[in-house]
Amino acid sequence: MDIKTLAVGQLKTNCYLVFGFKSSSREAIIIDPGGDADYIIQKIQDHDLKPKLIVATHGHFDHILAVNELKAAFKIPFAMNKKDQKLLSWMRHSANYFTNFDPGPPPRIDKNLKEGEEILISNFKFQIIETPGHTPGGVCLYSQKEKLVFAGDSIFAGGGIGRTDFPYCNKEDLTKSIKKLTQLPKETLVYSGHGDTTTIGEFSEAQKQQSQF
Ligand SMILES: [Zn+2]
Repeated sequence: MDIKTLAVGQLKTNCYLVFGFKSSSREAIIIDPGGDADYIIQKIQDHDLKPKLIVATHGHFDHILAVNELKAAFKIPFAMNKKDQKLLSWMRHSANYFTNFDPGPPPRIDKNLKEGEEILISNFKFQIIETPGHTPGGVCLYSQKEKLVFAGDSIFAGGGIGRTDFPYCNKEDLTKSIKKLTQLPKETLVYSGHGDTTTIGEFSEAQKQQSQF
């Protein structure tokens, strides 16, 4: 599997282009296109990719702002957990409030991503793990074979975790979600919604260090 990381939008969200390594089909999925649609489209063309699906790990505006433009450009569906539908409907307002920019109406969810479901594209496969807490409908995309997980804003390099200070957040849920993720094999690579990559082992270690102070 090959992964291109693009930092997009004012909040420097990690948008990931994922495609089969050495696969001639060039079929790809786009994870968390949080803005800068033109830049994402350019990169897709540079790598000669054929996007098949857009996925958002959760409904925060900084992970979905470019969805409508990408849907229109490639005529492909958008997948997200419907438990974040409410957040999606606030996209326009939140983007206006936080970034002073009107993105237009929010995208429609074409496919509901639920626990245990699988995404099959080209020669790779992801399993959906629901990880609520930061938002009600947060999900991670896990590939056991490739030993990697796209973790959204649930966990970060350096032991950081998603913020839970909005009214719809749930700290207990996030704690449970993190427990779920730290049960994955230690060597699993973690691709988060912001910042650097880490591994499950490094994340667990960094968390232990933090809790000692
Ligand atoms: Zn978020």
